[in-house]
Amino acid sequence: MQKTAHIVGAGISGLSAAVRLANASFKVHVHEATQQAGGRCRSYFDAATNLTIDNGNHLLLSGNRHAVAYARSIGTEAGLVGPKRARFPFVDLTTGRRWQLDLGDSRLPLWLFDKDRRVPDTNLRDYLALMPLVWAGHEKLVGDAIPCDGTLYQRLVQPLLLAALNVDPPEGSAGLAGAVVRETLLAGGQACRPLIARDGLSAVLVEPAVRLLQGKGASIAFGHELRELGITADRVGSLKFGADDVIPIGPEDAVVMAVPARPAAALLPGLKTPTKFRAIVNAHFRFDPPKDLPPITGVVGGLVEWLFAFPQRLSVTISNGDRLVDMPREELARAIWRDVCKASGVQGELPPWQIVRERRATFEATPEQNALRPGASTALKNLFLAGDWTDTGLPATIEGSVRSGNRAADLVLAMRRA
Ligand SMILES: Cc1cc2nc3c(=O)[nH]c(=O)nc-3n(C[C@H](O)[C@H](O)[C@H](O)COP(=O)(O)OP(=O)(O)OC[C@H]3O[C@@H](n4cnc5c(N)ncnc54)[C@H](O)[C@@H]3O)c2cc1C
Repeated sequence: MQKTAHIVGAGISGLSAAVRLANASFKVHVHEATQQAGGRCRSYFDAATNLTIDNGNHLLLSGNRHAVAYARSIGTEAGLVGPKRARFPFVDLTTGRRWQLDLGDSRLPLWLFDKDRRVPDTNLRDYLALMPLVWAGHEKLVGDAIPCDGTLYQRLVQPLLLAALNVDPPEGSAGLAGAVVRETLLAGGQACRPLIARDGLSAVLVEPAVRLLQGKGASIAFGHELRELGITADRVGSLKFGADDVIPIGPEDAVVMAVPARPAAALLPGLKTPTKFRAIVNAHFRFDPPKDLPPITGVVGGLVEWLFAFPQRLSVTISNGDRLVDMPREELARAIWRDVCKASGVQGELPPWQIVRERRATFEATPEQNALRPGASTALKNLFLAGDWTDTGLPATIEGSVRSGNRAADLVLAMRRA
């Protein structure tokens, strides 16, 4: 008889679990609270700019091998586009200085030995001082592991770790930062090519997964919010969506709960989860980017941190954005546009814009919050957890989400064999 798996939450974690289980011939039912799949990684039509935009610019690196494999499994690896070589142009808005970090295309970090490819005005010793991050334990702060000042910090380490951890780097978990450094900078240029879903997050990472699942006979119910787990002894016996909407869970069936940390804690009493989160702010401007503007530019010394050039659109990302959450929207748009003009060399009045402030974009990647992340197994034999906030060993990223979904699916498969 065909085994059944219920996946609660259709973000990247839930979708990756669902795809893996559907490929393993499970009958899959996905339950999503909202009317759209993708969760924190989604696109939508925005009337203010008259464009389809993403809730946030998402950057993957070629070394995010589980995320790339997920895209391959849904047939959209080619939709993740980026330069052939791992080159990152940067601009410092305080001095106007521009430089390019050229990580090359090797499997080894050979760029460290070439002063023309390193960050300007840095030497090999500066990079060696970062080594303690590589083996740092999870209880340690970045600020206690490495020097958080100087040229290398300001021009590379701060922008990289701020983007990866979504906290001010010195207060971040050195263990999580170390995982990022090991899987990117230390893995050579081949692992660091920037990849962007140029046609939009939903078109590349979400909708094809939904179509694949439907093609395999899976059901996807939107507007179907799980309200309660019916627990009997050591198992989930039912899923309660409403008074008249209760789905019994058969003895051989499994449930993957792939919802964010807060609803997960509410649904499963006693579950330990991260409790603190940080915002990410994105601004989108309807503006044709200059032809010579690279797809991604790192920006230091301003409000903007990363500038993305898309067809018809300039877009920026600002991490650790809690300080901007209550700022009046137009004031914020104008301040960001001033930085965009300086960074890209464009001029002009404020074009049509949209600001997206995701208040709980990621859990706070501090040692304290990292220690609250649970694994994928639970005390209930047929309930498994997925989500970027579970203990993936990585900060909250697409790569971590896919890993968590795969892990939960593998545990379901192991349950079948047991
Ligand atoms: C603005 C922004 C920028 C980012 N930038 C990057 C980046 O550059 N690179 C990167 O790798 N990562 C980035 N991330 C992180 C990345 O988006 C997340 O790690 C990832 O999308 C999390 O996926 P998830 O499936 O774990 O959770 P979610 O996307 O939160 O999905 C959970 C789903 O569960 C649903 N749900 C909740 N409660 C219930 C319920 N009771 N019943 C049914 N369904 C429910 C939700 O509606 C949601 O669809 C960014 C995130 C944001 C917000």
